[in-house]
Amino acid sequence: MRILVTGGAGYIGSHTCKALTHQGHTVIVYDNLSTGHRELVRWGDFVFGDILDTQRLRACIRQYRIEGIIHFAASAYVGESVVEPGKYFRNNVCGTLSILDAMRDEGVPYIVVSGTCAVYGSPDNMPIIEDTPANPINPYGASKLFMERMLADFENAHGIRWISLRYFNAAGCDPDGETGEWHEPETHLIPRALMAAIGKIPALEIFGGDYPTPDGTCVRDYVHVSDLADAHLRSIDFLSKGKKSHIINLGAEKGTSIYEVISTVKEVTGVSVPYIISPKRTGDPPILQADSTKAKIILEWKPKYSNLNFNINSSFLWINKYNK
Ligand code: UDP
Repeated sequence: MRILVTGGAGYIGSHTCKALTHQGHTVIVYDNLSTGHRELVRWGDFVFGDILDTQRLRACIRQYRIEGIIHFAASAYVGESVVEPGKYFRNNVCGTLSILDAMRDEGVPYIVVSGTCAVYGSPDNMPIIEDTPANPINPYGASKLFMERMLADFENAHGIRWISLRYFNAAGCDPDGETGEWHEPETHLIPRALMAAIGKIPALEIFGGDYPTPDGTCVRDYVHVSDLADAHLRSIDFLSKGKKSHIINLGAEKGTSIYEVISTVKEVTGVSVPYIISPKRTGDPPILQADSTKAKIILEWKPKYSNLNFNINSSFLWINKYNK
């Protein structure tokens, strides 16, 4: 199939482009390179464009006779969303609206989007199932929830089918080292911990050491990016068979604290991670852990790489290769 991948020059997008190409799909990356990198577009054609530019999207859909869309292009930093909410509603809500308008006008029948566990806010019960009430506690989560509401309304009105994959914490890099995590600045925990281990930053800041968790640090569910990519392929296949829309969690179903990440980084690199305890980051819930039963049933998704050691090992491979 001919798939348009918005944000295909980014972290999860580039891994998905590789997986799509290996499965025989034709990939067209649509990206404004605001956070993505041209160097990561190694699978498929590249179109420079902004998702807010509906006319450009329409022209691209027509030119490449696009059959389905995978939509990654978004702003995705919890902390930044708290201080710059407008950017999040513009890019994530208005941006998705622009894509949906283009799909309606050009007759593209389905879309797979990047949802997030941030829509759940800080729920009482773990693990989190999809029916857990959405109650976001930061603008990032709120913007992605609005996106899902728009998808449902566009389906009612225009018949566009969709799957929102609510990722927990994407982690790791391509097992072959062909693409990886490249954020500027890098803010995510695993790469920051590795950077501290190899001396690229003086110390890892741990945002909060007195959370109501077993060791006082935040617990997250780290799922390998190649497993996420695989779920997108399965979602496109699913929708291409005419099946109905879904919201689906994607997580490794294992809670990992920041101290556990630090000790696994030591195991992998052989070096202790220097760290300091810093104030909590606004918008961070103490624990997020997925129940991914639905992905396993609906998509027959079987995560292959999602264990902490491999997540960190594959990131270390990438960091060593490119010394980022
Ligand atoms: N975190 C941290 N220090 C860092 C980066 C992240 O303590 O330098 C914590 C953050 O507060 C959260 C967890 O690590 O509890 C995962 O954060 P990350 O930014 O990797 O992903 P997010 O959960 O924001 O998507």
